[in-house]
Amino acid sequence: MRKTKIVATLGPASSTEEALRNLMLAGVNVFRLNFSHGSHEVHAFTVEIIKKLNVELGLQVAILADLSGPKIRTGMVEGDSLLLNPGDLFILTTRSEVSRGNLISVNYKDFAADVKPGEDILLDDGKILLKAISTNGMDEVAAKVVQGGVLHSRKGINLPRTKLRLPGLSEKDLNDLAFIVTLNVQWIALSFVRSASDIRDLRVKLEELCSSDPPRIVAKIEKPEAVENAAEIIAVADAIMVARGDLGVEIPQEHVPIIQKKLVRMCIAASKPTIVATQMMEGMINSMRPTRAEVSDVANSVLDGADALMLSGETSVGNFPVQTVETMSRIISDVENSDNFYPEIKPDLGTVERKISDSVIMAACNLAREVNARALIAMTHTGYSAFRLAAHRTGAGIYIFSNNRNLLCTLSLVWGVTGIYFEKFATTDTAMIEMRKTLIARGYITTGNYIIYVSSIPIGKPGKTNMLKLSIV
Ligand code: PGA
Ligand code: MN
Repeated sequence: MRKTKIVATLGPASSTEEALRNLMLAGVNVFRLNFSHGSHEVHAFTVEIIKKLNVELGLQVAILADLSGPKIRTGMVEGDSLLLNPGDLFILTTRSEVSRGNLISVNYKDFAADVKPGEDILLDDGKILLKAISTNGMDEVAAKVVQGGVLHSRKGINLPRTKLRLPGLSEKDLNDLAFIVTLNVQWIALSFVRSASDIRDLRVKLEELCSSDPPRIVAKIEKPEAVENAAEIIAVADAIMVARGDLGVEIPQEHVPIIQKKLVRMCIAASKPTIVATQMMEGMINSMRPTRAEVSDVANSVLDGADALMLSGETSVGNFPVQTVETMSRIISDVENSDNFYPEIKPDLGTVERKISDSVIMAACNLAREVNARALIAMTHTGYSAFRLAAHRTGAGIYIFSNNRNLLCTLSLVWGVTGIYFEKFATTDTAMIEMRKTLIARGYITTGNYIIYVSSIPIGKPGKTNMLKLSIV
């Protein structure tokens, strides 16, 4: 059983029923719908097919809806091509004009008020770099080209050092959000998070919009402010994404690998999942095989302890989406089967209210290491024990039993967790017998394996894990 999960971004290369089925069979755990692209109709259609296939294939693939966040873009370019040479002076304007000559249009109205002389303006994923010279504070910024290139229509703008007054959720995000809650997805990601309050605002919005079980929130770390505020952001988010694409434009890219390691460790300490994203197997967009560097990147991200690795262009627009997932899956399994795996990272104990649960789970995980247990088994209402069992990163498979199908899908993002639908919660003793039978029937455990149950006595008391049992099959 592979422990590190795979997130695949959907797009034109992967939105037919056949493509989705093949990706699910290849081992995708979570599909990402990127709301920076695609219409609501297409997203709704895709979600419907995934849910249908989950039933048909007996899987629990989760859906992650990714909001664009406060992303600034250039406008249309006349003839879709504008050459910027080093040393050239350009005017960036917020008036609704077409980019041409020495004029570049920008879609953010406070651009000239926010950008200060001397700040960097990066276009098209950092391919083009300008330095702001002056601003009229209203609708124009004059900037000099430092690194030139050809600009096409509607490319992203990164302003790493500018304090933006943009809200964390744009008009478009609010509109997307109202639509997303009708889809019943398990996870929502927010792009360009700057502080914990961006996540808090999103949570308030979700609670307003959802009557029950609101989706959980992934904070995308891709701005320097988010790196600085990582501890507070992790504390309020449900998971984070190391969004290396934009992060590597917003900060010096050589800082990204160490930030990745630090963020993964902070998340494990907080028992929250991390997704490592972008360019993991970029070469497989056009090639049947990854480069050696890509194989190493995937392997090293697994060794860092990430919960999930994400594919973007590889599965959304690539030529070999299924092969990419299969290849990634093989690399992950190979690393996980090596004797160099299972980083000894311990989650911090949580709050006083959770002290009993956290301590029992920690004891169960220590015991799992001691006897080299095959399975850690728990029943859950909220998923709390699943997140915490995973954070201990032991070698045991984590089997989570619940009668909440939506929660089981949610847990597909979490390291080492297999969710199993289960209704027979009469007493703790009978439930343990039933769970063991199920795991044997599915081939997850067999005679001679040590297995560990964590549960609550009396049964069914949410959030109170107070029992631990070790037995041998
Ligand atoms: P994106 O996020 O693909 O939505 O830009 C990931 C990243 O920036 O790495
Ligand atoms: Mn991004």
